[in-house]
Amino acid sequence: MTRWAKNRDVFPGAGAESYKLARTRRDFLRSSAGVALGSALIRSPWARAAVSPSKRKAVVITFGGGARDQETFAPEGQENVPHMMRELIPQASFFTQVVNRGILGHYVATASLATGVYETINNFASLPPESPTVFEYYRKDLKRPSSDAWVVAPSNGFNRIGESSHRSYGAGLGARVILPKHLLTAATSGGGSDYQHLLRDNYETPDYAPDLAGSEFELQQLEGLLKLSVDDFKRHAQTLSSPDELSVYIARQLMRQVAPSLLWITMHDIDVAHAGAYSLYIEGIRRTDRLCSELWKAIQNEPEYAGKTTLFILPDFGRDSDENAGGNGFQHHRTGDALSRTTWMLVAGPGIREGVVYDRAIESTDLVPTLGAMFGFSPSLSQGKPVTELL
Ligand SMILES: [Zn+2]
Repeated sequence: MTRWAKNRDVFPGAGAESYKLARTRRDFLRSSAGVALGSALIRSPWARAAVSPSKRKAVVITFGGGARDQETFAPEGQENVPHMMRELIPQASFFTQVVNRGILGHYVATASLATGVYETINNFASLPPESPTVFEYYRKDLKRPSSDAWVVAPSNGFNRIGESSHRSYGAGLGARVILPKHLLTAATSGGGSDYQHLLRDNYETPDYAPDLAGSEFELQQLEGLLKLSVDDFKRHAQTLSSPDELSVYIARQLMRQVAPSLLWITMHDIDVAHAGAYSLYIEGIRRTDRLCSELWKAIQNEPEYAGKTTLFILPDFGRDSDENAGGNGFQHHRTGDALSRTTWMLVAGPGIREGVVYDRAIESTDLVPTLGAMFGFSPSLSQGKPVTELL
């Protein structure tokens, strides 16, 4: 049993502590971002605009492996997330209590977000999720081509995230997965020293080297699909400061050239916190905040996305509380305490109420059923429920 698996046994459920965290988070936002309570049914005329399900698009961003409120939404942390506070939250519905009852490892938790089931696969193995992913439901039910669902993932260990091993779904029905680091390694024939800062892969298991024989993006598609020459890609990569910057660069190219209707981008820079350097963790939060804003602006500026795209931003889980002797504050997420399990979700786009905060408990597994209700597919094996405030 991994140390993550034990977390499942010590977490009793969304309890008083989780609710208290959500209330505090709500108060932080109400006092600074000027947002209303969820009961106030405010819709702008723009937000009312209906988009037919067949034209809808969704972009899901996982927020960097999670950060504490002290460095994000609490008064002393808000300077690290200026784009979230001033641009995104006032235009979004914000959920302050998203409870994750699953295993707190990044791959397995992201797989749980993508399947709507608390997956129990080994976090550190190259395995597909066991339950069907949102990409499979979407493509099978709505008969969409493989070009319409994509994942951009930071870690080579995410190469199986797009498609489950479920016998009724799986093979050929999943998302196409781009691993920008794999692409960069291929483009630079093993990665020159100029690119090492972009190739750092996993902050928790440096010895883990996944097998990349799966269906990951192939280098020749760089030019054919993304319309990027290998030289342009290498030159541009040199100007980027982190793996997440590289992911966003590729995601934007994908939006421009392929325009998938379901695009899933995982961020990971914040997880540098495991190395114990607080300044790097803060830098990661600030960068993630900026990149989320850049993607939101890209959505407004791309004709294929503008006016018909719902953006979801949520962490896979949080980080340990300082009070827990078994944890290490900002550094890790290994205790399974309420703080590491009580996260948040921001949703913006047509038909979504703006500047509204909800603090009732929802779960990480509710994302997939919510996407199902928006797009009109049936995630029949998901454990979660659609978030009705978004429908
Ligand atoms: Zn981590």
